[in-house]
Amino acid sequence: MKVLKFGGTSVGSADRIRSVAALIDDNQPKIVVLSAMSGTTNKLLEIADCLYRTDKQKALDIIQNLELNYYITISELYETEPYIRKAKEFVQTVFTYLRSFINKDFYPLQEKAVVAQGEIMSTTLMHYYLEECGIPSSLVSALEYMRIDKDCEPDYFYIRQNLERELAKPDIRPLIITQGFICRNAYGEIDNLKRGGSDYSAALVGAAIQASEIQIWTDIDGVHNNDPRFVENTKAIRHLSFDEAAELAYFGAKILHPSSIQPAKKENIPVRLKNTLHPEDEGTLITKESPAQNVKAVAAKDGITAIKIKSTNMLLAYGFLRKVFEVFESWKTPIDMIATSEVAVSLTIDCTEHLENIIKDLEKFGTIEVDSNLSIICIVGDFSAAKTGLGAKVLNALSHVPLCMISYGGSEHNISFLVKQEDKQQALRDLSAQLLEKE
Ligand code: ADP
Ligand code: ASP
Ligand code: MG
Repeated sequence: MKVLKFGGTSVGSADRIRSVAALIDDNQPKIVVLSAMSGTTNKLLEIADCLYRTDKQKALDIIQNLELNYYITISELYETEPYIRKAKEFVQTVFTYLRSFINKDFYPLQEKAVVAQGEIMSTTLMHYYLEECGIPSSLVSALEYMRIDKDCEPDYFYIRQNLERELAKPDIRPLIITQGFICRNAYGEIDNLKRGGSDYSAALVGAAIQASEIQIWTDIDGVHNNDPRFVENTKAIRHLSFDEAAELAYFGAKILHPSSIQPAKKENIPVRLKNTLHPEDEGTLITKESPAQNVKAVAAKDGITAIKIKSTNMLLAYGFLRKVFEVFESWKTPIDMIATSEVAVSLTIDCTEHLENIIKDLEKFGTIEVDSNLSIICIVGDFSAAKTGLGAKVLNALSHVPLCMISYGGSEHNISFLVKQEDKQQALRDLSAQLLEKE
């Protein structure tokens, strides 16, 4: 069985919903994971923001506009009166629910319930549409099986067991519609897999059912060799390995949620990226191995903070790095890049929630310098030690960009640079011009 995930733009209008329905109606059993219609999650977060600030009028205005948009989509999507009515009634219950928060105190827990409504609406509207077209489908709520644990990591055992139970129900149809992004946490409360999390949902569902393939359908013809939002003339890459794709996703290729490759890699399930607007395009295939190529792709991750610890205690000492790492471990803050010299160590993080505490703890070991608003530029290619010249070519391509830090040798297929955020676009463009367009 395959798992197909359709992102926000792919279900962003009545027309797009119709196209997805046509794509999934091929009599093959499948699980279809849907995101919210594009723009909805942002609006729901804006509503939540107004509710925190008790800006009731603004919250009501956004709710009203969003509701209106849904009614327009409904009138464009359905042909028959009973379905228009049924869909409107459903959407009305969602917006009544959103309005019910207006005069109450608002907490993070409720924010999660509010943002979950986008995926709940898109899946219900799709399910009703398929029903109206006479295409049998089952709507399975992700809240019945998708779960994260106390560390916000997926609870693989729970997911598998509960999804299997849902799929074994006697009236289940071969075409299953379910929500991406939303889940329950370790306490059973509504939660989510963070922004862009529907890709992760699809991968987790695929891993849980040992799918034959996980397909991510979006608005572009696969993973491009550079970020199309910042660089012109980018090209789709036809084949990536799990490791290459994971690096690109983690280091900023927005097309994939940072964690979405991990479950597929664990179960060795091919991931295929496809374009809903051009289904005939080959897209990108991600499998265990892929053909080596000098430089395959470049991605960038913003919002990086660098922390430098300078200490003469490091000289000829052992155990120093352990102590430094323990600080980050105790504050549950992952480290992305690291560079060491005999008298200093520099690290980067992207989560600054505990930065003040981390600095306080690190000050015991030496002088601390902090630099923020940085970007990591990640270059994926064949950087095996046996090859010569590629590192030099990459450095040469970046000769006009001030480099704050370099990480080389951590893996054979990646080299990363730390630059100021304002230099990111230049770096991406130079790498495209010097390395990718010449490949
Ligand atoms: P969806 O709503 O379908 O999940 P996203 O907006 O999350 O879609 O991801 C698709 C977008 O990711 C593309 O439209 C593109 O602008 C952006 N993107 C960033 N980097 C890349 C890349 N390397 N390859 C392809 N798309 C990328
Ligand atoms: N709707 C969610 C978001 O906008 C999840 C997703 O689209 O993947 O982040
Ligand atoms: Mg996405």
